[in-house]
Amino acid sequence: MNGQTTAARAHRLEDDRRKMSAKMEEIEKEALRERTATVLQRLTEAYGADSWNWHTQQTPFQILIGVVLSQRTKDENTDKAAKALFAKLPTPQAIATASVEEIEPLIAPSMYFHTKALRIKEISEILLERHGGETPESIEELLKLPGVGLKTASCVMVYGFGKPAIPVDAHVHRISNRLGIIQTKTPDESEKALWEVTPADGVMHINMLMVKHGQSTCRPVSPKCGQCNVTDLCDYFRALPSSGDGKESRSR
Ligand code: SF4
Repeated sequence: MNGQTTAARAHRLEDDRRKMSAKMEEIEKEALRERTATVLQRLTEAYGADSWNWHTQQTPFQILIGVVLSQRTKDENTDKAAKALFAKLPTPQAIATASVEEIEPLIAPSMYFHTKALRIKEISEILLERHGGETPESIEELLKLPGVGLKTASCVMVYGFGKPAIPVDAHVHRISNRLGIIQTKTPDESEKALWEVTPADGVMHINMLMVKHGQSTCRPVSPKCGQCNVTDLCDYFRALPSSGDGKESRSR
C-alpha cells in the first residue's frame, strides 16, 4: 500500500513537472513571438513592405526559374539573367523547346549558367509532361523538381502563389540566429524553428525583410550595427564588448 502511494505521488510529481516545463516553454515561445513581431515591424519601417527584386514579382513559373537562377548569384545579376531569359522565353513551353545553347547566353549573368541552363530546361520539360505546363502549388510537388530545395519551393509559395511559407536563405538563417530568436545550425533547421516564433501575420514578409536587412545592414561580415534599428532586440549586439555604452559597437 505504502509502495503504491509513493509510486502514485512520484507519478503525480513527474506529471506536474512535465506540465510546468511545457508551460515555461510556451511562455518563452510567446516572448520570442512578441520579439520577432517587433523585429519585423521595425524592419518594415526601415525597408518598406515591397519586394526589391524583379524576379520575385513575376508569374509562379518565372519565380521558380528566377530562384533557380539566383542560386549563388547576386540579386542584380539574377534580375539581369531573368529579364533576358523571359523576354525571349517566357513560358515552360518556350524553354523546353529551346536548345541549351540558346538559353545559356541569356542567363550568362547568373553563376554556373551552363548547369542552370540544363536544369531549367529539365524543369520546364517536367512541368509540361507531369503538370500540363503549370507550376505545382504545393511544397511537396515543387520539391520533386530537379534542383528545387525547400528555400526555392517556399519562395514560389510566398511570392508566386501568396501562400504562407518561410523561405530561409543565408540572410534569414544568419540574422535570426544573430538576433537570438532561434538557435540553429542549418537553414532547414531554421525553417522549422522560425515557424514556432513567427507571428502569423509575419510569415509572408519575414524572408523579404531579412533579405533586405542582410543586404544593406546585417552583412555576413562586419554587420553595420550602428545603422540598425533592432539593436535592443539583438543577442549578437548585446554580446559585443562595448554594447553597454554602444560607442565602439555603433561604429562597427
Ligand atoms: S544589431 Fe547588428 S547583428 Fe544585430 S540585427 Fe542589427 S546589424 Fe545585425
